[in-house]
Amino acid sequence: MTWHVSSKSLMDTQLLTEESLYFLGNGYLGIRGNFEETYGPSYDSIRGTYINAFHDIIDIPYGEKLKAFPDTQQKMLNVIDAQTIQFYFGNEKELYTITDGEIISYERKLQMDQAISERMVHWKSPEGKEVEFHFERLVSFIHRELFVIKVTVTPLNFDGEITIVSTVNGNVTNYTNPNDPRVGAGHAKRLHTIDGGVYSNKGYIVAEAEVSKLRTACVAHHRFSIPDIQEKMKHEAGEVSFTYKMEGKKGQAIQFTKWNVYTDTLRHGEQLLERAQQITNNLEDVSYEELKSAQKTYMNGFWERSDVEIKGDTDLQKGIRFNLFHLLQSAGRDKYSNIAAKGLSGEGYEGHYFWDTEIYMFPVFLMTNPDLARQLLIYRYSILDGARKRAKEMGHNQGALFPWRTINGDECSSFFPAGSAQYHISADIAYSYIQYFQATHDEEFMKDFGTELLIETARLWIDVGHFRRDGRFAIEDVTGPDEYTCIVNNNYYTNAMAKHNLKWAAKLFHLMKKWDPKKSEELSRRLDVKENEVSEWERASEQMYLGHDEELKINPQDDTFLEKEQWDLENTPKEHFPLLLHYHPLTLYRYQVCKQADTVLAHFLLEDEQELETIENSYDYYEKITTHDSSLSSCVFSIMASKLRKKEKAYHYFSETSLMDLENTHGNTKDGLHMANMGGTWMAIVFGFAGLRIKEDGLHLAPWIPESWAGYSFHIQYKFQNIHVQVESKNLTFTLLEGAEVPMHVYDESCIIKPQQPLSIPVKEKHSKKRR
Ligand code: BGC
Repeated sequence: MTWHVSSKSLMDTQLLTEESLYFLGNGYLGIRGNFEETYGPSYDSIRGTYINAFHDIIDIPYGEKLKAFPDTQQKMLNVIDAQTIQFYFGNEKELYTITDGEIISYERKLQMDQAISERMVHWKSPEGKEVEFHFERLVSFIHRELFVIKVTVTPLNFDGEITIVSTVNGNVTNYTNPNDPRVGAGHAKRLHTIDGGVYSNKGYIVAEAEVSKLRTACVAHHRFSIPDIQEKMKHEAGEVSFTYKMEGKKGQAIQFTKWNVYTDTLRHGEQLLERAQQITNNLEDVSYEELKSAQKTYMNGFWERSDVEIKGDTDLQKGIRFNLFHLLQSAGRDKYSNIAAKGLSGEGYEGHYFWDTEIYMFPVFLMTNPDLARQLLIYRYSILDGARKRAKEMGHNQGALFPWRTINGDECSSFFPAGSAQYHISADIAYSYIQYFQATHDEEFMKDFGTELLIETARLWIDVGHFRRDGRFAIEDVTGPDEYTCIVNNNYYTNAMAKHNLKWAAKLFHLMKKWDPKKSEELSRRLDVKENEVSEWERASEQMYLGHDEELKINPQDDTFLEKEQWDLENTPKEHFPLLLHYHPLTLYRYQVCKQADTVLAHFLLEDEQELETIENSYDYYEKITTHDSSLSSCVFSIMASKLRKKEKAYHYFSETSLMDLENTHGNTKDGLHMANMGGTWMAIVFGFAGLRIKEDGLHLAPWIPESWAGYSFHIQYKFQNIHVQVESKNLTFTLLEGAEVPMHVYDESCIIKPQQPLSIPVKEKHSKKRR
């Protein structure tokens, strides 16, 4: 029950949403859950196949273009479509569609334990022919270029000719919606077929992006279970079609598989077609059943490390599995790619990577699959040079400024107030490097990548900020995470994150000297690090200005936030949410109103900066003025409500995250899944209910359990050791599954977990008031 999601709806709007929900991917390829046979012209559909990071470059038109506004942006392209297969019955007289004839029964399923999707249809044609279809899909986790469809067609009440037409089509476009800033506004047609053909039993298409000149190839072929099939292949106008004719016999199933191999110039170089052909040949001896069983083994491994079990709520159990599954499907695993805001499930936000990765998704992988987490960091390192260049363009003398949204490393944000002014992304990336180090103690990685990245981001803060007359370090004219309050001085979140960044840059610089004097010297020379520079990072960090309001006893979001009038949320009509679609940005900026967690998020990420009282007061204050119009908000409020033991609220916000896409609560799941929120669900359990924090002195936990649950459990990795954590109403139990021993801080008490000695501790109701 909780290992699959299913649907029996054929409503057009629901199908559009389900294209995202039932997408399959493997971090490289993403295939939306479109129907092989299409829906016919009366339904809206976003037919999509994506290759992570495969993009075109598009001019950004401006009314008034000022200095250092980006000229171009990238857009993830919809690539060659291999999903389409059509079925004709009785001398090609009747074409199967869901809108002609009658659908006697229908169901689709996403099997999250096996990483396949299925669709079962019992159809009756207008002339009364009954046919059963079974579609199964798999995007391989073992062979990243491979997407396979397995089809079983059974004529139920007739004998006669069956014609199957399967295509590989390069004539595709992207989806656009000029009225929604979260969806691409134009430039639908950017991919052009440049080659195609048929050979032996195969067909291929090669297509090229208009400006980036990136190319992609798709080679396809079919395998049938029955003999006596007439085959005809044709390549015409950017499309390859395979036509198969056979005699259908009443009650006898016809089965075939369609094997599609995708390559692209980023990963496979100029010989991409040859590589796709080679991969296809290498797969010739692999059967679909073998593929499926390897997929299952892979998934078993994934769930063994990553599953979160909830005893007592099947809907939320399904929700968390669904979210984890889609994170796995969307995470890039090479230096070209990362996790897009919508993963590989749709075109919302044009396939761009944001801070969403580091703050909302990276922690899931860090704690369950640190090797994959490291890959995500390597992507950022691979665009570090671009970030240095961007800092220069923006007028800084030093440092690295990471793009607010990007695919290839260049800034794509054309709206700077709520976009590229979010300098905090550089500190967010640094934060994830520090968390990685604290959770793994992987010195090699820090020597090769981490220290350099931290130094360059620290340098940025020195250049952006300045020491005021009172000696405090201030950062002006940036935007924090809350996009309804822009270009402000001393955004609490940004300052706190920059402080952490600066402190750790200095710390790692000193550590490097100890670990590896030679490498450290090389790095200092290459980056031209001066000794007084390092002490300046330390001083800026120590003197970082973090605002505190004496009257309200909270951290103000920025210098002027608390002076503004509060937005009247109570009397704002329901249909005016999200506010960004109904009010000019300036209207929003003039009020105290938050799109998402900002100061509250800083209190989660850096809880030791403040007393618990300030954290609690701030939570109460900001909660009242936060709309959660961004899907990145509820999980943070859930985590912090957990910390403050506001149990009902913690549970309420958690439930919102868990079912956000399954119930389409933001109304735009059709454009793709809310990936950050999906990571947020996991965080709301592990960082929220279980109170996990990764700190310099190790892991800290302070679990509690929601009233309606009988228990919950999950795995975490610390220094590549695997720990199982089980929380029940009275007791929590830690079991070390792999590794020598793990020290831990539970409710602020130190303990050690040893192999074969599960450790049980009573669950505590109240949270300690101490800073941890
Ligand atoms: C949020 C940003 C987020 C972006 C992409 C926006 O609505 O406000 O914080 O990075 O979506 O998910």
